[in-house]
Amino acid sequence: MSELKTRSKTAAGIAACAFLFIFAATAFADITPPEKFLGFSVGADYHLATYDQAVGYLRLLEKESPRLKVFEMGKTGMGRPMIYAVIASDETMKSLDRYREISRKLALVEGLTDGQARQLAAEGKAVVWIDVGIHASECAPAQHALQLAYDLVTDDAADTKLVRDNTILILVFANPDGMEMIADWYRKNVGTPFETAPMPYLYNRYAGHDDNRDSYINNLIETQNITRLLNGVWSPVVLYDHHQTAPFPARIWIPPAAEPTNPNLHPLFIRGKNLIGSAMGYAFDREGKDGAISRFQFDFIYPGYEDSFGDFFHIISIMTETALYSYATPRFYTIRDFPEDYRDLTPSVFYPSPWKGGWWRLRDAVEYCLTGSKAVLHIAALYREEFLYGKYKMGKDIVARFAKEPPYAWIIPREQWDGPTAALLIERMLMQGIKVFQAEKAFLADGVSYPAGTWVIPMSQPFALFVKAVFEEMLYPDLTKYPDLWQGIVSPQNFRDAYLPPYDLAGWSLPYQMGVKVMRVDTPLKASLIEIRKTELPGAVAERSGGSYLISPKTNNSYTALNRILKKGGEVMRAKDAFSAGGKSWPAGTFIVRSSNIGREFMAGLAKDLSLEIGVGDPPASASRIKSPRIALYKAWRASADEGWTRWILEQYEFPYINVENAEMRAGSLRNKYDVLVIPAMSADAIVSGYAPGTMPPQYVGGIGDAGVLNIETFVREGGTLVALNSGCQFAIEKLSLPAGDALRGVRSAQGGGAPEFICPGSVLRLAFNPKHPVAYGMPERGAGMFNNSPAFQFYPDSGAGKGGEIIASYPDDTLLISGYLKGEKFLRKKVAAASFMLDKGKVVLLGFGVQNRAQPYGTFKLLFNALFY
Ligand SMILES: [Zn+2]
Repeated sequence: MSELKTRSKTAAGIAACAFLFIFAATAFADITPPEKFLGFSVGADYHLATYDQAVGYLRLLEKESPRLKVFEMGKTGMGRPMIYAVIASDETMKSLDRYREISRKLALVEGLTDGQARQLAAEGKAVVWIDVGIHASECAPAQHALQLAYDLVTDDAADTKLVRDNTILILVFANPDGMEMIADWYRKNVGTPFETAPMPYLYNRYAGHDDNRDSYINNLIETQNITRLLNGVWSPVVLYDHHQTAPFPARIWIPPAAEPTNPNLHPLFIRGKNLIGSAMGYAFDREGKDGAISRFQFDFIYPGYEDSFGDFFHIISIMTETALYSYATPRFYTIRDFPEDYRDLTPSVFYPSPWKGGWWRLRDAVEYCLTGSKAVLHIAALYREEFLYGKYKMGKDIVARFAKEPPYAWIIPREQWDGPTAALLIERMLMQGIKVFQAEKAFLADGVSYPAGTWVIPMSQPFALFVKAVFEEMLYPDLTKYPDLWQGIVSPQNFRDAYLPPYDLAGWSLPYQMGVKVMRVDTPLKASLIEIRKTELPGAVAERSGGSYLISPKTNNSYTALNRILKKGGEVMRAKDAFSAGGKSWPAGTFIVRSSNIGREFMAGLAKDLSLEIGVGDPPASASRIKSPRIALYKAWRASADEGWTRWILEQYEFPYINVENAEMRAGSLRNKYDVLVIPAMSADAIVSGYAPGTMPPQYVGGIGDAGVLNIETFVREGGTLVALNSGCQFAIEKLSLPAGDALRGVRSAQGGGAPEFICPGSVLRLAFNPKHPVAYGMPERGAGMFNNSPAFQFYPDSGAGKGGEIIASYPDDTLLISGYLKGEKFLRKKVAAASFMLDKGKVVLLGFGVQNRAQPYGTFKLLFNALFY
């Protein structure tokens, strides 16, 4: 019945279109509606438009209307062109450059008086950025974009005209590869028993769902394209990122967000979000679209989302989560499907029109997305001048604030443990629009003297709060103290004992994750500084002849050099102990390259390209030969973003590798083909059992099975190295019966009621490394690690299978928390964070924390690299 109803609604829609054709023939008679181009209406049951179709349709609109233009913004990880559309009135489209310039000037603040800012705000247009499809399995947003473009270009209702005249819409497809893959996967399965099956591979080449956790560091090419366009070209007033995972049974999640609030935001951002969210809520209920919920579940304390990172660049950034069943498959819900707390349909301030159940189709989700997008555009049109001036005001306030209060600057000394990684951090800051300077002469800051050339980020600049938010050691607020702040929680909670968990990480501090030394300056800074556009870090080969080339293992880039040398057929040894040569001291693990078959010119090229200081000198007596390892990286059908990030890192540092899948693991003979097998962070069950029969097309069912487990053990016993990452360690411990266990197992959850004794949502913790262990070569004795759903090991007496563990890294008997939240520190102290074991001729390396979590902790990548050579 409902199916019929929806069909007749669509028919009515088409009839209305025809009616408008007659009366507004000159305006858009020649404009093709999306259903005519696609052959189905946007959001129709069982139909998804692909990215290629989306591009084709927007290109067609571009030809048919002066109100829309398509631009390319770079390529995706898989090489597709990434496009965006600009939509505005005919008049506005003629002066896009001018409006872009106004946005940029107001964002950058510099050189503007208040009067000039007000004038620019009066003249400018509200640039609104709407992006769709970052999470590709959340289909409705990307589909709705086609309808949105058509409606905005063609509709002549007063509200739409207001929007067209006052705003410039930047419509961005954030994940083209994913949109194409998901549509392809769904089309293959529609009408089969696997219609709603999850896709068995990542919907971004490397990151999958984590593509929305990359914004503050910009590892992915898609993120870089977005950042450059967002901060470097358009500087919109509002960013709206569409998602599709509403807290059930709500039909859409809209701002205001849940607590906690990031303390590094200008209050106008928060007010702006709340204002927009309220306007959206009003629009939903005005249109009779029930079930919009706020203040629940999603917080924005983590600055790495695309929809939180924009805030630091004076873009009021919001997101919504529309309800999703599965792709384009409809579903009927009754109240009995609801969680108990929602069944009485009690209205509340942040959920005033509880959804009562019924059909939920892709078209319904598309309609909700359309209401959301149009409401955001509408409020931006109404508040055009306010928002433009507000953008300037926020920047101006921040510049003024840090001219008179600390921190006055951040200093990044040239003298670093890993210089090129420090330069990388600065490059990423520059990419995001942060102004970075270099000292012309030596200077004093907080009583410490720094040489000429030192990098400085003064805080008296408009986007300074971003630097503060990602540099400082920020402790996650302890909201157990403030139960009143929890308003908006729908389910009953134990306020007294419970803590309010973050939606994502609780701590992130990039300098700690990257192993880069930065100094906060708390007294006004006097130094002669020049602005830089890039970091020029020299590299050279020492001016000596004879002996071998020496490369320090402290630098991540050394491993790239090593891989290039090995690829060229070079002969490389690794020093077992620290030694002195060529007038310098070298740590254990130093790479020694025989000069007989590698020319000086090649080495000089490496030094320059990778900013390495390559030494020349006599090698120490004790060194062992290393070869290019044959690396296998396990890839499950239960797609793992951790696997994707690991692949990304291996490629960045030029490690050759092969992905091995379940069939190969089950077949065996692994040792003949590989030297190292890497297991990413995933549960033992996902590895061994995979997808249950009947849930997926047969080729994706099952895991490595018992045969695979046995083959892994044989692989190790025959001399292979198994490297398990973070939560993947549990698999290795259990299946190879290693003499170790996870000390956190019993205390992590509230067993037998009460509050859990140990809580640590993704946080940066202090670690002690053992640089004498080959897996910790090149590491400092003290550093930081990303604890994210991690185990902590304790060793058991040798039990026959595997010899006693050796410690690679441990949690010191000290204050462990650097950034984030940690309850129950005592359960971690003196526990082992990374260890190795011998098993017959082979080895097992457990890297029991996020050494490469989301490819952000550059400071601990070396543990993975060394493990590959171990
Ligand atoms: Zn999402």
